[in-house]
Amino acid sequence: MASNSGAAGHRVVLFPFPYHGHLSPMLRLAAALHARGLAITVMHAEHHAPDPADHPADYRFVPLPADVAAGLLSSEDVARLLMEVDAILAVPFKDRLAALLAEPDAGGVCCVIADVQWYSALAAARKLGVPTLGLMTSSAASFRTFMAYPTLIDKGYLPVQEGHKDDPVDELPPFRVRDLQRIDKSILAEFDSLLERNVAEARRSSGLILNTFDVIRQDLSIPVFAIGPLNTLSPPVKSSLPQDRGCLNWLDTQEPGSVLYVSFGSFVPIDTDEFMELAWGLANSKRPFIWVVRRGLVRGFESGELPDELEEKIRDRGRIVYWAPQEEVLVHPAICAFVTHNGWNSTVEAMSRGVPMICRPLIGDQQGTARYVCNVWRVGMEVEVETQLEWGKLHLAIEKLMGDNEGEEVRERMKYLTNMADKGVSEGGSSHTSFVNLVEFILSFTC
Ligand code: UDP
Repeated sequence: MASNSGAAGHRVVLFPFPYHGHLSPMLRLAAALHARGLAITVMHAEHHAPDPADHPADYRFVPLPADVAAGLLSSEDVARLLMEVDAILAVPFKDRLAALLAEPDAGGVCCVIADVQWYSALAAARKLGVPTLGLMTSSAASFRTFMAYPTLIDKGYLPVQEGHKDDPVDELPPFRVRDLQRIDKSILAEFDSLLERNVAEARRSSGLILNTFDVIRQDLSIPVFAIGPLNTLSPPVKSSLPQDRGCLNWLDTQEPGSVLYVSFGSFVPIDTDEFMELAWGLANSKRPFIWVVRRGLVRGFESGELPDELEEKIRDRGRIVYWAPQEEVLVHPAICAFVTHNGWNSTVEAMSRGVPMICRPLIGDQQGTARYVCNVWRVGMEVEVETQLEWGKLHLAIEKLMGDNEGEEVRERMKYLTNMADKGVSEGGSSHTSFVNLVEFILSFTC
């Protein structure tokens, strides 16, 4: 994007949440703002610290002298994890921001953009007199669920009652009860309190930025900037994990539209049974595939070794990689479909690259995203499972998606949606206009 000379002297402080799926969209936003002439400071945790060598030389990186405890990173109690990470970094963030503001040559900090998960940081920046913008790295629908959480508990949708999973959630169409974040009863109150803080601080901010071209403006009294898909605004952000780039050469040897790409993101673990069913599903699909099996993907299965019989079946057909250059894989002509957990980044990347999805959501907002993908946008098919995956169901979903009729319709819808996303980010499109408005909005803050 063209640079904006009016931006000289305006510095934006960005504060990403220290997980790949949160860091990546924040750093892409940084790159897009930098291209518009804004100066960039990135405050960050030690965990998943960005490498300055991967970014323009004039970025300033400010590491915070506190880190996320290793034990917390593997916690499956999501509410506790998020609150404790917020608490650990809150004071260091406030102190470093205050120090930055006091520097005579700080270069005019005009606003802070923080992940909406950083509710304490957003509050601290406001108290220091700096305008704030929240970045929602998940979907707009997910933010809408955050806002509705107290109502969902009051009305008895949550905790989810057996026998009511298919009830519609009238307050949040098109969700059914099963699409709501699956939170254990024991931590429901804690989770509610976490979301209440996220929403309250986002509402007190000067604006909210969404990585989508779907919007929720009517529910908020602050400006909302739906500027996504962010992955089309700037190049991919390097992850701290080494990529297996050899899989791109292997893809070059495959037939166009023949290869399945399978990945469950950067964070969520699966159990051994799920892993084995996936392996059998892929083996029996008789299609070539790339499967990301990162460290920590399979609970209690460090070796990652497959039984000999299975190994034989997939040896010549599939590539198992530790970490893929996902966006380059998705755009490769050999790819036909993406078996995904529907993390928001993966979903947006698939939609902007025109790759239909086979959805196997695992936790959090992924089930809700899968509902939109399969039932609203109709660009994917869900593997029909109640709890445990069975290879036959995965096999069936693959066959359906790659077949005529329903599969054909899904592939056509995906072309349409990708076209819409392209139009959105092109000059004059809704996301492009939102981004231009966002830059103007930032420039209206006095430094
Ligand atoms: N990703 C990648 N290589 C992989 C697996 C994932 O680059 O082998 C990237 C992917 O492109 C996406 C991010 O990791 O940007 C995963 O984010 P998402 O929101 O989909 O899932 P999460 O990791 O938050 O569960």
